[in-house]
Amino acid sequence: MTISETIAQIKATSARAVVENSIRLANENSDYHALLSLTEDRALQRADEVDSGKITGKLAGVPFVVKDNFLAFGAPTTAASKMLEHFDAPLQATSVEKLEAEGAICIGKANLDAFAHGGSTENSAFGPTKNAFDKSRVAGGSSGGSAVVTALNIVPFALGSDTGGSIRQPASYNGVVGIKPTYGTVSRFGVVAMASSTDVIGSITSNVEDTEFVMSIMAGKDNRDMTTLPDYFEVQNDVKPNQKFGLIKDFMSDDVEPDVRKRVNEYVEKLRANGHTVEEVELPMAEYSLAIYYIIVPAELSSNLARYDGIRYGYRAEGVKTLAELYGKTRDEGFVTENKRRIMIGSYVLSSGFFDAYYLQAQKARTLLINEFNKLFASYDALIGPTAPTTAFKLGENTADPIKMYLNDIMTVPASLAGIPAISVPAGFDESGLPVGVQLIGPMRSDASLLATARSMEEV
Ligand code: GLN
Repeated sequence: MTISETIAQIKATSARAVVENSIRLANENSDYHALLSLTEDRALQRADEVDSGKITGKLAGVPFVVKDNFLAFGAPTTAASKMLEHFDAPLQATSVEKLEAEGAICIGKANLDAFAHGGSTENSAFGPTKNAFDKSRVAGGSSGGSAVVTALNIVPFALGSDTGGSIRQPASYNGVVGIKPTYGTVSRFGVVAMASSTDVIGSITSNVEDTEFVMSIMAGKDNRDMTTLPDYFEVQNDVKPNQKFGLIKDFMSDDVEPDVRKRVNEYVEKLRANGHTVEEVELPMAEYSLAIYYIIVPAELSSNLARYDGIRYGYRAEGVKTLAELYGKTRDEGFVTENKRRIMIGSYVLSSGFFDAYYLQAQKARTLLINEFNKLFASYDALIGPTAPTTAFKLGENTADPIKMYLNDIMTVPASLAGIPAISVPAGFDESGLPVGVQLIGPMRSDASLLATARSMEEV
């Protein structure tokens, strides 16, 4: 279901009818566990205000879902954790406010890996989300719920956050479009922080045009997020002709599922048929990007998560006698295992004895990766490769082995570390009918151009 189809439906019926239909679909599909809560009362009230003409805008009456790490009214903001299980947001995220200012209606909050730590939504404290194409498989993550509600046509779009692939990978696993924009494109104000140097806000939609539409509303400078870029995002109607693409060879090795490689190669042929050039390129630092990511990201998140101490807000453990016990027990009970693993790794790599050996080295290696990207972008308009090495894996398949889980992030973390835009677009299916995603990666602020290219490819 696209946004324009939804708008047509609202015109033909009413905002209330469309919002009620989304809520009915959400309830009917509750076995996917894509949503942690519905914001039904507030949504219906807003729908009535659209129908009475009190609320207007480009998205008047269009229902959407936010990942439950966005502060939004109508239900608690849990970050899929016990720590924030009962946390009611005192304000709304800038991205949510901007969409609401155009009349969009949030109907619910999507499941995720607790605090967005994960790639399958199995780290949710409230149970995993199931894949839209096969309920025995993972939704991907951490924005698994957002991808599944979009794929199941419960809503035409959903919001997610992407720190190392959390929008792109679940989008690819569920056959929908996901964007990780250039770092700083969309305000992060009001979104639960994970790793501040790579966190970005983006959308999941069923086609590229809708991504462009949602991004054009959300993007822009926000004085409440000092990392936002001056306004630059503008939808490009025309596609730049004869572009030069680099197919990242390092992402097409024998370790990657054959069907995934096939679909990427088909996309490459389509690009060529459209008059573009595609050449194989090397990104040698890709090999180190997981190591870099899993040092820098835990370091940053261990600092960001220090605020959950049982004192100021969120969960507070009971039956403790000392302050140290209060911190310890609260954090032990409020976080899931993966949160604790990352806090420990982060604290370790930042500790005075190991800072130089790990954190500093990782930052240096990150710069080398960025240099490699910049060198490629001197000769290529954009890069292409798979979004993930496999299609959606079985629920439980990787939960016992964190390293195996992390390996799935190999193709998404490089763009995150470099702060550059990357989108995942559906590129067909593997032989068991599971969706495959192709990833397009461009230089800083090339988001609109990447999207225009991806849109033109949908029509082929
Ligand atoms: N899977 C990655 C991780 O576990 C990405 C998470 C994210 O982007 N929030 O860190």
